[in-house]
Amino acid sequence: ATANASVFETPTYPTNCLYFLQDHMQVRIPPSPNRKSQLLDIVIVGAGLGGLATAIALAQSGHRVKVYEQASVLGEVGAGIQIPSNSMRLLAELGLEPYLKDHATEPKAIYFRRWQNGKTIGMTKLIPEFRQTYNAPYYVIHRADFHSALHKRALDVGVEIKLGSRAVSYNADTSTITFENGSVVTADLIVAADGVKSLARKVVLGGHDKVPQKTGFAAYRSTVKVERMQQDPELDSLLTEPALNIWVGDGRHVMTYKIGAGKTFNLVLSHPDNSDPREWDQSKALDEMRAEFRGWDTKLTKVINLIDKTIKWPLLSGSKLDQWVSERLVLLGDAAHAMVPYMSQGAAMAVEDGVALAHSLSKVHDSRDISKALSIYQSVRTIRSSQMQEASLLNGQLWHFPDGPLQEARDLAMYPETVSRPF
Ligand code: FAD
Repeated sequence: ATANASVFETPTYPTNCLYFLQDHMQVRIPPSPNRKSQLLDIVIVGAGLGGLATAIALAQSGHRVKVYEQASVLGEVGAGIQIPSNSMRLLAELGLEPYLKDHATEPKAIYFRRWQNGKTIGMTKLIPEFRQTYNAPYYVIHRADFHSALHKRALDVGVEIKLGSRAVSYNADTSTITFENGSVVTADLIVAADGVKSLARKVVLGGHDKVPQKTGFAAYRSTVKVERMQQDPELDSLLTEPALNIWVGDGRHVMTYKIGAGKTFNLVLSHPDNSDPREWDQSKALDEMRAEFRGWDTKLTKVINLIDKTIKWPLLSGSKLDQWVSERLVLLGDAAHAMVPYMSQGAAMAVEDGVALAHSLSKVHDSRDISKALSIYQSVRTIRSSQMQEASLLNGQLWHFPDGPLQEARDLAMYPETVSRPF
C-alpha cells in the first residue's frame, strides 16, 4: 500500500502509468575483469533469459561460469518479449547488441487505445525519447531470438553450458548441488535462476517456500502472420509503423507488436481468470479467447479471428522475499521475484539482477568478502524488484478500469500528453 501511494504521489509520474521506475535505475556494469578481485567458480542453475544474462555478466568479470539446465534442448516458450531500455542498456554493455540487431525491432511509440473502438487515449513516445533519456533503445523481439542471442554470447565469453542436468537438491552450507543422474557439483557460489517453480527458493527460505500465487488473471499468447493481415486494408494502420498498441478495457487488455523482422504480429491478451491451471483445457482456449474479447474494437477482433492457435498462461505474482541468499546459494530472476507482465519487466529485472550480482562480486578481494557482497546484492535487488512487482500489479489496476469515472479521469490524464507531443 505504501509503494502504491508513493507511485501516485511521485510528481514526475507519467500519466500513462508506465516506466516511472526506470528513473530509479541504478545498476551499473562492473569494471571487468578486475584483477584485484577474487575470481570464483560459479555454477548457475537454469539457462533461461535470467540465467544466461547472468552467466555473461559473471564471465565478463573474469569468473569461471558453468550453467546447468534441465532441458535437453535450449529454447523459449511463447512468442514476443519486450526488452525495455533499462535492460537493453545493460545488455549492450554485455556485448549483446550485434547478436540482437538483425532480430529486434524498435517501436516508435506505445499507443494506449480504447477497448471499444481503438481510439488513442494516450501515447508514450519511445523514439527518440527513450534512447535520449535511458541511453538505450526499447526493443521488441521473438523470445527464441533473444534466447539464442544470449546463448551465443555466453558461449563466446567462455561460459560452459550443460544440458539435460536437472538439479534435485541443494546444500547451501557446503555449496553443492546434486543432479538427477546422481552427480554432485561443488562451487564457490551457486546461482539459482530456476524460474517461478524454483527448487532452490525453499532451501534459501529455510524450508518454508513462498510460492508465487495466482493473481486472478491469465493471458492468451498468440501470433498472426503479417502477410495474412495485409490482405485486409482495414488492418493496415496496425502494420504500417512499428508500434506497440495496448487496448485497455474492463478487467482486460491486449498488447500487440511486430516481431520476427516484422513478419509476425504478436498478441498478449490478458483477462480475468482465477481457475486452477491444472484444470485448463488448452484445446478450448481459442474459442474462449474470442468470447472474452467479443465486442472490442473491430480491427482488433478481426486480428483475433485470424489467430489459429493460442496458449493460456497463468499470471502469477510472488510476494517480496526477505531472503535471497543462504550461505553460498543465491536466487535470481523469476525464482526470486515472479511478477505479472504489465510493466514488461520480469526478464529485465533478471538481467539487472545478474549485472548487480557481478558488480557486488567485483568488490570481493578474499573469500571472507563473499557474504558481504551477497548481502549487498540481496538488499539492492529486493527493493528494486519488489517495487517492480507492485508497480506491475498497479499498472493492471490502472489499465483495467471499467467505463466510468475512474476510467474517464485516467483517460483525461493521459490525453494531454498525447496532444502536447504529436507523433
Ligand atoms: P525461466 O525463464 O523460467 O528459466 C528458468 C530455467 O531454469 C528454465 O530453462 C528451466 O528449464 C530451468 N530449470 C528449472 N528448474 C531446474 C532444475 N531443477 N535444474 C535445472 N534447470 C532447471 N519480461 C520482460 O522483461 N519483458 C516482457 O515483455 C515480458 N513479457 C511477458 C509476457 C508474459 C505473458 C509472461 C508470462 C511473462 C513475461 N515476461 C516479460 C517475464 C519473463 O518472461 C520472465 O520474467 C523471464 O523469462 C524469467 O526468466 P528466468 O530466467 O528467471 O526464468
